[in-house]
Amino acid sequence: MKSGRERHLSTQVWQDQGSEARSSGRSRGDTGQDELASQWSRVRGRLQEEIGEVEYRNWLRQAVLHGLDGDEVTVMLPTRFLRDWVNKEYGGLLTAFWQAENPAVRRVDIRTKPVGTSERAPDLAEAEVKGAAVKPAAARREIEDRQDMSAPLDPRFTFDTFVVGKPNEFAYACARRVADGHATPGFNPLFLYGGVGLGKTHLMHAIAWELSQRSDEVTVAYMSAEKFMHKFVSALRRQSTIEFKNELRSVDVLMVDDLQFLIGKDGTQEEFFHTFNALVDSGKQIIVSADKSPSDLSGIEDRLRTRLGCGMVADVHATTYELRLAILEAKAARAGVNVPGRVMEFLAQKITANVRELEGALNRLIAHANLFERPVTLETAHEVLHDLLRAYDRKITIEEIQKQVAEHYNIRISEMSSARRARNIARPRQIAMYLAKQLTSRSLPEIGRKFGNRDHTTVMHAVAKVTELIDADPDFAEDVELLRRILTV
Ligand code: ADP
Ligand code: MG
Repeated sequence: MKSGRERHLSTQVWQDQGSEARSSGRSRGDTGQDELASQWSRVRGRLQEEIGEVEYRNWLRQAVLHGLDGDEVTVMLPTRFLRDWVNKEYGGLLTAFWQAENPAVRRVDIRTKPVGTSERAPDLAEAEVKGAAVKPAAARREIEDRQDMSAPLDPRFTFDTFVVGKPNEFAYACARRVADGHATPGFNPLFLYGGVGLGKTHLMHAIAWELSQRSDEVTVAYMSAEKFMHKFVSALRRQSTIEFKNELRSVDVLMVDDLQFLIGKDGTQEEFFHTFNALVDSGKQIIVSADKSPSDLSGIEDRLRTRLGCGMVADVHATTYELRLAILEAKAARAGVNVPGRVMEFLAQKITANVRELEGALNRLIAHANLFERPVTLETAHEVLHDLLRAYDRKITIEEIQKQVAEHYNIRISEMSSARRARNIARPRQIAMYLAKQLTSRSLPEIGRKFGNRDHTTVMHAVAKVTELIDADPDFAEDVELLRRILTV
């Protein structure tokens, strides 16, 4: 998983590209390779601005420019799924942006990469912008592993930008307390939990910023549980676990985000448990987040669960209408964009899932308004956000999910409830459970019952497994994303 900072950095980069494209005017018919590459990077920048970061990342990030032949640009995507989707959804935009960049272009041909060249091509645009050679991902990861214990912090995730309301005031107060450095042992560990996109990571980064501002001497290590595991496993591989342990145990504050990723990872849990004890015993602060309370985190070893629950446990609740509105107002003000009250009320009413989605919707509106130099109105909101709004208007059922997933993987619907455990059956079943959790408001036991009376822990395991695969395997992620899209349009 990419850290927040990396994500936002690249957004920034793209946005800069977009504005450059606008101000420098368009040009030029006949083009050399360099020129073509920079045109492509501007096209990508504008695409990202237009469709928003999330969609861009899901669908277009892997697009690679193949070349310009006569009046036809060829763009490659790694799979047929992606190719068809991009063609259908973004073909028009791609063509329009290309034509705006290069008048010689008449058509954009979207193809899959020929077999044997499936690895990702070097990302011209990113290399260009950063002015540095692109290092292979594996080498980069090795260096990262050795260099820093902490993942980068998102500069926007501070206490200043965190909007406090009823659902999060307790978690906020606890976070403040720990960040002030006056926390009593009762606050150790601080355990923040709640659904996705409700501000847990934001609060953790805010604590880290605050502490590091207060004093240069406090060392804070922030990382996702996944990163923790990754570092641990690679230390094992390099036979440098002692170094790893020492380094971890030398920090003053350790933050581990999304601890639910350690479900089922027994070795890593064990290591975390020992680190945890060593730090707490020497008076250091631990802050952990997860999607559930310690007592509900089944799949975590009992002794670790017990320790996690013995400090301060703070729940970040789902947002209320008032909080959503306050967040929108704060974000629009910060962006310096005039968004009419009616539009914000409309968004706050409609987009209820989490703050991330709310923020994404607002960003899309703002980007759209900038791009077309039109004011934000209720009408443009409907237009720009139609896909998102439609998903909210529609209630998806577990049966629909089962049917769609079964069809997609070419298995019988009855297998969704059967006892068969062969991989080609079990995996789609797990995906369906995952989607049921994501797209419906059904509880884990309810979902379990719909899948042949399975236990809720089976559903939980499926959700963890699919989440893990999504992070590890881009093809798999794309498959699941496609299903999600099919179900929500
Ligand atoms: P989580 O870690 O709980 O999944 P994040 O902390 O990543 O959620 O939050 C998702 C997005 O929503 C971030 O961009 C974050 O800044 C924003 N956000 C969440 N809660 C708030 C809040 N109370 N005020 C301002 N922004 C928020
Ligand atoms: Mg988070």
